[in-house]
Amino acid sequence: MAWILDRTRFDTFLAERARAVGVEVRVATEAAGMERDGDGRWRVRVRGPRGEEVWRARVVIGADGVEAMVGRWAGLDTRVPARDMESCAQYVLQNVDFDPDAIYLQFGDRIAPGGYAWLFPKGVGIANVGLGIVALRADGRNAREYLDAWIARRYPGGTTVGSTVGGVIVNPTIKQTYGDGVMVAGDAAHMVNPLSGAGIVNAMKAGQLGGRTAAAAIREGDTSARRLSSYHRAWMDLLGEEHRTHYRIKQALDELDDGFFNGLARTANRIPERKRSLGRIFAHALVRHPQLIPVAARCFV
Ligand SMILES: Cc1cc2nc3c(=O)[nH]c(=O)nc-3n(C[C@H](O)[C@H](O)[C@H](O)COP(=O)(O)OP(=O)(O)OC[C@H]3O[C@@H](n4cnc5c(N)ncnc54)[C@H](O)[C@@H]3O)c2cc1C
Repeated sequence: MAWILDRTRFDTFLAERARAVGVEVRVATEAAGMERDGDGRWRVRVRGPRGEEVWRARVVIGADGVEAMVGRWAGLDTRVPARDMESCAQYVLQNVDFDPDAIYLQFGDRIAPGGYAWLFPKGVGIANVGLGIVALRADGRNAREYLDAWIARRYPGGTTVGSTVGGVIVNPTIKQTYGDGVMVAGDAAHMVNPLSGAGIVNAMKAGQLGGRTAAAAIREGDTSARRLSSYHRAWMDLLGEEHRTHYRIKQALDELDDGFFNGLARTANRIPERKRSLGRIFAHALVRHPQLIPVAARCFV
């Protein structure tokens, strides 16, 4: 079961809920840097419509996405190997024909090297259509050029009514997501699922854990790194460890080529549709494609 989210409306809805419980929401306001004060609080420099200001805080939660400046300012290691940075492009496409109860994923080095192409329905005849690529494995074209080529082949009658481009970090959670008076959450801490590239729900869960930890730490009068490390442990128990396993599987799958995946699809298609459970596909695949054994082994090491 999966949910399709309207991000624009959803983000506004969340901001309204936060405002309703007393949060001051500022838009078009950028954090430009931060330093520690003598009393241990952070001095965060911000720029926005009201000019330059300095905010003082016992705890700063960096939820600043792939750019992740808060983590860097706090001295956390947020570097990403180039092979784990996907470039993504997505259009909102109208006048396309698809089953609104299905999602469509297509894999292949000619279509989306190192990633995959997707169609996620938004409504009747309208969908998010996009793809992610690893630039190191591409042929010189960028994600948008790959997407244009794929859409021209698969959905030639589609009309583009919106577009997004951006990076997705498919690297497991950074080793330390906290410091004295600081935590990082979501993409800023590499909390995306490294196999699927999905990060919305993960960012929300981490944000919730971070917010609760910060509130408790402030109440207790202890916002030290040692106190905030409970956030990291809670995240690793919730999803972080699972992401490490997914990352190992991704690394093993990266070594297999399109010919292998085509063979795997044919094996799955040979199983009668009503018997085609994940477990059965996996069992058949292991017997017919022994190259999968090291991939399966990575689930357990
Ligand atoms: C094209 C594309 C398609 C995707 N599709 C999916 C999908 O289908 N499903 C899914 O689960 N995930 C998807 N993802 C990934 C998903 O968008 C992210 O994992 C998710 O948004 C992470 O949330 P976040 O809050 O950590 O970061 P973001 O959503 O990136 O939010 C970070 C916010 O911080 C702000 N910010 C950054 N720096 C500063 C600063 N210095 N001062 C103030 N504000 C700052 C940014 O403007 C932004 O608003 C997709 C990503 C891309 C690029």
